[in-house]
Amino acid sequence: MSIRDNVKRVQDCIAASCARADRDPSSITLVAVSKLKTVAEILEAADAGLQHFGENRVEEGVEKIPQVNESARGKITWHMVGHVQSRKAKQVVQGFDIVQSVDSLKLAKRLSRFALENDRVLGAHLEINISGEASKYGLAGYNWYRDNSVKADLWRQASEIAALPNLEVRGLMTMAPYGAEEKTIRRVFANLRDLRDALARDFAAPLPELSMGMTDDYEIAIEEGATMIRIGRALFGERV
Ligand SMILES: *Cc1c(COP(=O)(O)O)cnc(C)c1O
Repeated sequence: MSIRDNVKRVQDCIAASCARADRDPSSITLVAVSKLKTVAEILEAADAGLQHFGENRVEEGVEKIPQVNESARGKITWHMVGHVQSRKAKQVVQGFDIVQSVDSLKLAKRLSRFALENDRVLGAHLEINISGEASKYGLAGYNWYRDNSVKADLWRQASEIAALPNLEVRGLMTMAPYGAEEKTIRRVFANLRDLRDALARDFAAPLPELSMGMTDDYEIAIEEGATMIRIGRALFGERV
């Protein structure tokens, strides 16, 4: 299967999931996660019509981004989806348009500072660790709806991050537990959606984006309200 065929197949699956969930396919942004893939492969996906690409390592991203941008026909929006060490915030701001993996106030402050210095606005999603797994990054969100101290911490961090200049918080991001049962995955996604609704209500701020769902679980994510799905393997094949 070529990358072009894969793009078509994923878009068809998105349309089918949207039909089941009574949603408009244009409400879903497909972010192609191109980590470990070459500039040529990324350009092939861009040629097939994709405009959003995600990388999970700062060095790899900043090396490939200018090369892709130079050869791509249309404008590409670059998403950072992996953990960013605060000391790399400056490089991130230079290469990426959106950081989906804002997982600490410290990182948010540095991203804001460099965005301000570069006179640009950086999009941001708060990454939330909904499942509570110790191996996952993200602001602690496990049991936020019944643990008042988790909720208070999360609300305080969200309000401080939202107040930072040149960083525009547009929504939330999470990852479901790897290889979990469907009902567990569905619960994590529904939980992120409820959290988004609660934050948007309490802050009286729109938080339109819900970034959830990857190759193995994006159909469930769409049924649970995802507006952004992050797909690697289904588009580019296995990472070797
Ligand atoms: C790699 C990665 C993805 C894509 O995963 P696939 O299973 O290949 O679709 C999505 N989100 C993040 C944060 C990733 O690191």
